[in-house]
Amino acid sequence: MTEKVVCIIQARLGSRRFPEKVISNLGNTTVIETVISRVMRASSVDHVVVAVPVDDIRGLLQQTVLKTKASLFGGSELDVQHRFIEAAQAFGASHIVRITADCPLVDWKLLDQVVATLIDGEFEYVSNISPPSFPDGLDVEAFTLPALLEARDLALDPRDFEHVTVSLRESGRFKTANISSETDLSPLRWTIDYESDLDEISSTLPEGFMEMNHGDLIREGFQGVTVSARERNEGSLMSQGQKTWSRAKELIPGGSMLLSKNPEMFLPEFWPSYYSKAKGIDVWDLDGNQFADFATMSVGACSLGYGSESVDLAVKKAVDDGVMSSLNSPAEVQLAEKLIQLHPWADMARFARSGGEANAIAVRIARTFTGKEKVAICGYHGWHDWYLAANLDANSNLDGHLLPGLAPAGVPRALLGTSVPFEYNDIESLEKMLRTGEFAAVQMEVSRNFGPQAGFLERVREICSEYKVVLIFDECTSGFRETFGGLHLKFGVSPDVAMFGKALGNGYAITAVVGREAVMQAAQESFISSTFWTERLGPVAALATLEEMERQRSWETLTSVGYKVKEIWRQVFSEAGLDARIGGLDALPTLALDVPWWPVLRTLLIQEMLERGFLTTSGFYASTAHTLSKLEAYEGALRDVVGNFGQLSTEEEALSLLRGRPARLGFKRLN
Ligand code: PMP
Repeated sequence: MTEKVVCIIQARLGSRRFPEKVISNLGNTTVIETVISRVMRASSVDHVVVAVPVDDIRGLLQQTVLKTKASLFGGSELDVQHRFIEAAQAFGASHIVRITADCPLVDWKLLDQVVATLIDGEFEYVSNISPPSFPDGLDVEAFTLPALLEARDLALDPRDFEHVTVSLRESGRFKTANISSETDLSPLRWTIDYESDLDEISSTLPEGFMEMNHGDLIREGFQGVTVSARERNEGSLMSQGQKTWSRAKELIPGGSMLLSKNPEMFLPEFWPSYYSKAKGIDVWDLDGNQFADFATMSVGACSLGYGSESVDLAVKKAVDDGVMSSLNSPAEVQLAEKLIQLHPWADMARFARSGGEANAIAVRIARTFTGKEKVAICGYHGWHDWYLAANLDANSNLDGHLLPGLAPAGVPRALLGTSVPFEYNDIESLEKMLRTGEFAAVQMEVSRNFGPQAGFLERVREICSEYKVVLIFDECTSGFRETFGGLHLKFGVSPDVAMFGKALGNGYAITAVVGREAVMQAAQESFISSTFWTERLGPVAALATLEEMERQRSWETLTSVGYKVKEIWRQVFSEAGLDARIGGLDALPTLALDVPWWPVLRTLLIQEMLERGFLTTSGFYASTAHTLSKLEAYEGALRDVVGNFGQLSTEEEALSLLRGRPARLGFKRLN
């Protein structure tokens, strides 16, 4: 293949913060002409193309680009990745360099360095942005066309289409390299987001800057946009929560410890992100705004509402009496007794502090008990190696395809084939697996998005007994929602081991593994032990939570609250002529609308409900604090928002109403 390096400059006229910035004046020329002429100094580039939304091929932008030696190409406005693919193919590119038009100080030497690394090192993607060490505004990304085409197939959410290179950078599938600056220059801002940025850059650029690369500019004392100017711009728009989130992303990989609390999965740039106080279903953000939580109630951890008084009282007493000592806390024995009493098939319990840990304990016990290694899984069971191994594939390019969104990077390839997913309600495929005699356990959620077909759970029980496989029900989420205990009690099917988490401590960390004695005793033959599994608050909170649940018969309330929310959805969306796909347990309803641009509409729904004082998402976790009057207020706000959705007929219309980017979606649960 002959090499052809095409530099594609991504430009558009519409920018929320600074429209038409690319054709604004910079010195005695324009921003876009500056970008083009600096890129054209690169010796590695064969051709320069300015790729714009097709509707922007008009007026001054068209005239300006056509004055230069660059070509102009029109493509999709929103699917920028597709615009790149089309432009690259139209100009016969083998290698693509991506530059954005709001970076007029792009450095041709850096560009040549990135391209040389890509080609000489036979990489598929090379950039200077992961991690960044050059001034913001000198971003150069170079990649091969085949890699871009493959990245296209891997894209999981709309963010990937808009931002072109996300899956090239993040999927772990490509051979990549990064170019770094010797000194960290990443705090410098040389990009134009606001009109004031352009004013500041124009007025401080040294004479003859067109001949200067970034090193020359720094030596001349050029700084770019000063922090105060940027803070003036962003500070006026950003909430305390968003400012904290920006900082978090610099300090904490991924920004937060739980994917389901990542603000970008809800409302990028505008989600309140952090709370100062929570009580009942009310949550206060860092700016003092109050919201009613019709989202996940902390992903289901607080089914009695935030700050349940009786639970908090028991915990406060335990704090006063000391939460740790060299001796054990009797609360764990009382909790074991209580859980076994609620689940008469079980004889013993172990405790941990997270759902993932409880799952890992159960797997270890089952493997020890049976002496076998394979586990058949159905559902979500946490982040540990044993589970993510299900996403390894003999062909490493296919890693991740069974449980989309859960990347198994860092999981030893030696675990390939040890965890094998099966589809819910597909008894034949499960039986075929167990017949091999290689399985230690069947580990599954009892029911999640839809219920078991008649006889399915019973048959799972039968074949597990027949093939001497440990049946493990992961009730971390389903437990204590519809029944006082595991959901399996409702179906009358008993496992050998069950795990509880989430609701068990009403916000305090406690998870449990309960099981039949013969199986549980196998824990003794292995080593399962951890310091903070002995702290006192978890079991004390769980005992108080169970008492309060029993007093309120909380599972009945959760079921009727969740059922009511499903009814509200059915009613409100059908009034607006929209088909709602509603699933999940009554206490944990899920929502999707039957439009291909649901991810955009979902973000709009979240945005508009937030404006009206409600935290929402595409699922709902019922709590006993969702009173009738709160449900009525929610219904009124939802009707108000959804009433306008009927008129939206295209994704573009919905996008034009969004204040920020569409939210990204999380992993897809197997069910
Ligand atoms: N199992 C199930 C069924 C879950 O829903 C979850 C959490 N969503 C987990 C395990 C993992 O729990 P944790 O996040 O506490 O590790």
